[in-house]
Amino acid sequence: MKAWIALLVLGAPACRALEPVPIRFGTRQFIEYRPGDLPLVIAAPHGGREKPADLPDRREGVLSMDTATDELALAVAEAIAARRGARPHVVVCRLHRIKFDANRDLPEAAQGHPAAEQAWHDHHGFIDQACRDAVGRHGWAFLIDLHGHSHPVAQVELGWLHPASDLARPTEAINHPDFARQGSAELLTRLLNRPYSEFLHGPASLGALLEQQGFPATPSPRLPVPIPPYFRGGYTLARHCDAGRGIAGVQIEANRPRLRDTAANRRRFAEALAAALTTFLPGGLQLERSGPSGAMKK
Ligand SMILES: [Zn+2]
Repeated sequence: MKAWIALLVLGAPACRALEPVPIRFGTRQFIEYRPGDLPLVIAAPHGGREKPADLPDRREGVLSMDTATDELALAVAEAIAARRGARPHVVVCRLHRIKFDANRDLPEAAQGHPAAEQAWHDHHGFIDQACRDAVGRHGWAFLIDLHGHSHPVAQVELGWLHPASDLARPTEAINHPDFARQGSAELLTRLLNRPYSEFLHGPASLGALLEQQGFPATPSPRLPVPIPPYFRGGYTLARHCDAGRGIAGVQIEANRPRLRDTAANRRRFAEALAAALTTFLPGGLQLERSGPSGAMKK
């Protein structure tokens, strides 16, 4: 009898393990894409370490990598999968930034080298594919471009494409439709029918939700106007986020101390971000209950 009970307990795991997803690769495996089924796409453009000898070093621009952001992206994806029983899409660049910068337009990213140009097409092509798939299934997609900064203040910087000075404008100005059009989260106001300022630095903002979990962040109710140096979001966000196509997004710049520095801290942040996103995003980022305008999967 006791053995029978033990078997029952062992045979009924609390959460069904997800099947492994085959990784798709771009040319020479410089870019990897793990397809998902949630309306969330996580890209890590600057965590790559590979320095193939036949690719010349880039001559200008920022050349230093964002340490451990590739591992952080996978940790976030795992934490979300554990919560939701479904996966986000993940696009990871394996090339070191001295060879290729995925978060720049083509000339600056590849600086004329054909293999780096192909990596650029693969990277943005996979993001396009992931967003199209998410919009097709759910009616919307949310893109996180995941980075790491080394600014003096150890806090998470959330870039919505607005310069810090614009975030200091009066609430009425921020909630005007023209303001949202300049940013990367216009779609959220449409989907959730709430004022834009709430998403940027209100009590229900992503910054507020991260702070509640012990990770200082800006913009947030504590620090609604980021103090420079501050990254407001770059090329990838501007290229892909478009309310008309059903895509919103944020550039997350993670500090290194107490966040990216150890595997345990990366897991801790991954859990916090997963919890924050399941509150912040439409439908609680559920597979079966998506955004109000979303086509349902299956
Ligand atoms: Zn970066």
